[in-house]
Amino acid sequence: MTDTPHIPARRLPWPESGSRPVASPLSPSVVYATPDPDALDAQYEGRTKGYSYAREGHPNADLLAAMIDRMEGATGGIVTGSGMAAVSAAVLGALKAGDHVLGGDQLYGRSLRMLSQDLPRLGIATSLADPTDAAGFAAALRPETRMILIETVSNPTLRVADIEGIAALAHAHGIVLAVDNTFTTPRALRPFQHGADIVIHSVTKLLAGHADATLGYVAARDPDLAQAIKVAATTWGLTPSPFDCWLAERGALSFELRYDRAEQTAARLADHLANLTGVARVLYPGRADHPDHNRAGALLQGRFGNMFSFELAGGRAAANAFTRACPNIAFAPTLGDIATTLSHPASSSHRALSAQDRAALGISEGFFRVSVGVEPAETLIEEMTRGVAAAAAAV
Ligand SMILES: *Cc1c(COP(=O)(O)O)cnc(C)c1O
Repeated sequence: MTDTPHIPARRLPWPESGSRPVASPLSPSVVYATPDPDALDAQYEGRTKGYSYAREGHPNADLLAAMIDRMEGATGGIVTGSGMAAVSAAVLGALKAGDHVLGGDQLYGRSLRMLSQDLPRLGIATSLADPTDAAGFAAALRPETRMILIETVSNPTLRVADIEGIAALAHAHGIVLAVDNTFTTPRALRPFQHGADIVIHSVTKLLAGHADATLGYVAARDPDLAQAIKVAATTWGLTPSPFDCWLAERGALSFELRYDRAEQTAARLADHLANLTGVARVLYPGRADHPDHNRAGALLQGRFGNMFSFELAGGRAAANAFTRACPNIAFAPTLGDIATTLSHPASSSHRALSAQDRAALGISEGFFRVSVGVEPAETLIEEMTRGVAAAAAAV
């Protein structure tokens, strides 16, 4: 008994320090002890600040949320356990049975699945329209439309949504506009400045940036809606782990540097590939041949991002040869990592679509999406040039 007297109440004092740690402490505690019920009352009534239970909130989540709030020009945003948890929290906080959601027709795969299969199961009707065309969106509205969900830049064809046109439409009809800003990031666009009511991120991607934490973020302009989203996240268990938040905070500190470097390289790589024989086309909003180049220039203020796509002539055989000839570029279906990653939508994100539906989106067997990282541009140019030559030789 005398050997282990401190374990049950963990009464050992926290080591004293008159100085403050430079790096944020990690606070994995699930529960927080209060001195007495009066103190707990004070906390619940907002007279004092304090945590009670980690699903309801913890310091690492609040710190990370405050960082992303500053980037997005938001207040009161929350961090969630994944990007999809952020989409779920927005939907569960804002909608009820009988409502209709109008989504962009090239949303992230799981968001599309949620709209096409899961929300209808809960009595929420959904339909899709092309977000580069505000008139098409207007035609798809219904009297019950309560939310519009779009992504600023689409995956993998990098089409740029007419956010301002759609925001005007949403506000004229009292509809909540939710923008998933994962691809674009606040470095290029802050959707709240362009009429968004809700901003969503997969923090997993560029903001955390090291492919080691799965997290999301959601903020709403209206305080009541923000509170409803927060309650939904807590009730449905969509809140994040302290360790993931701690990792993401560390990653987010270098976000702007990583973004700027990767963006410069992406522009160079896209132009380089466009000039190689064996490359049928390159899609990068910063290039004059991109269908939304003008809108991207105006909306994103010259910040065209780290993502580009390209199509090899020669289909699957060329695609296999390309990936095998580029062993230093991870062939992995993610984006926003510090290292460059290559994704092949026909065999991953878009494999559930028929070949015709993929063709309608311009996604062939030779189509790749590149998430450019922070490696030296010359290294990537060399490797991809080798890849394109191997692809051309394979067909
Ligand atoms: C990855 C991604 C998501 C989902 O995020 P997770 O963190 O993987 O749950 C949502 N939207 C976009 C645009 C994404 O790229």
